[in-house]
Amino acid sequence: MAPRVRFAPSPTGHVHIGNIRVALFNWLYARHEGGEFLLRIEDTDRERSTPEAIETLLDAMRWLGLDWDESPVYQSARTDAHLAAADKLLADGVAVREDKGGKGECVVFKMPDEDMVFYDELKGELRKKKEDTSDFVIVRSNGTPVFHLANVVDDIAMNISHVLRGDDHIENTYRHVALFRALGAEPPRYAHFPMIVNQAGKPYSKRDGDAFVGDFRAKGFLSQALFNYLALLGWSPGDDREKMTREEMVEAFTLERVKNSPAQMDLQKLLHLNGLYMADLPASDFMARARRVLAACPWGAQVSDADFERVCQLMQSRTKLIAQAEEWKYFFSDMPDYDDEKAVRKGLKKDGVQAALTRLVCELERGSFDEASIERSIREVERAEGIREGKLNFAIRVATTGTATGAGLYETLALLGRERTLVRLRHAANTLCG
Ligand code: GLU
Repeated sequence: MAPRVRFAPSPTGHVHIGNIRVALFNWLYARHEGGEFLLRIEDTDRERSTPEAIETLLDAMRWLGLDWDESPVYQSARTDAHLAAADKLLADGVAVREDKGGKGECVVFKMPDEDMVFYDELKGELRKKKEDTSDFVIVRSNGTPVFHLANVVDDIAMNISHVLRGDDHIENTYRHVALFRALGAEPPRYAHFPMIVNQAGKPYSKRDGDAFVGDFRAKGFLSQALFNYLALLGWSPGDDREKMTREEMVEAFTLERVKNSPAQMDLQKLLHLNGLYMADLPASDFMARARRVLAACPWGAQVSDADFERVCQLMQSRTKLIAQAEEWKYFFSDMPDYDDEKAVRKGLKKDGVQAALTRLVCELERGSFDEASIERSIREVERAEGIREGKLNFAIRVATTGTATGAGLYETLALLGRERTLVRLRHAANTLCG
């Protein structure tokens, strides 16, 4: 039978990447198996689960392309069903009314008189001794159902075959299995995914860096890249593929290949993947995104379309995150900002650099100014000045762009043009070296 899985978040206004990764694994599993991926909004905490918080969640799911089947189920609308289940448990004698601390009666579920055991698809058999389990409240004295009851009653009603969730829920699962049985239902199959952790191996949180889907989106990460990255965070296709299409991930996704050890958040890897997806964007899409970044820069609004297009062509395959377009100022201004002191020190404040740059100015003054001739001129100067081949490139880059990184040097100079290149080289040689 095709599986029915669900994502059952409690919306809080922020969508943690650990949570959305659980959604993503459920989605991949359902799509791989040809089953159904359902959405249940566990919105019983009305203070946190506001309409805006729910919209933030749905928006994050849509952005990542996590399309769900059927209509979302809102847990807050199912209180009657939860309470009816509690009545049945009371009638069957497996739950009792108790007054805990004089606050009125609540309903307490009696754990069965046996060890609790369930099979986890990732971790194998998990067991808890009778003496380590305890009875628990399923309806509060104010008449509201507790998470455990609502969660299980809804999974039964939604006919969920597999509960795939974070391993912070393992302790709950012993209780849930008992509730399923007491309600006359077969418990679903379970898989509990290891947490996403930081460098120190502790659960990854806001304190460690960006942790919410909205943070990544606001920074300009592409949804395909974040999707791909999160899929690989604790799962692997079984070979060394990294950049994969959604179809390839669906095709390759199995629970056996989900790793049973915590997945360490690696921002560099996310950036790397994002860069690969950036390089694949249609040029017009890349330009539109870069334009938005420049529009927010004090110098960026006046940039002409022609210059802009050439810079985009040069920079697209080297841009990991669109915000890096903020660093393109040197392409569009008369002079770069030489405020990267480290680059200036390492590139220009070195013996022999001043003489070499001065000689390069003479070399570049005549002849054609294409990439190949620029490269030839630089090699020529290195030979004449007794500098090892390629060693002068860094100084030239700092002199002409003010930065230590960028696109290929010869392409960059060709794009800047002879005029601006010479002005910058002269300025560097005369005022920044030594
Ligand atoms: N609302 C719970 C959570 O977000 C439900 C977990 C689940 O059963 O999947 O942790």
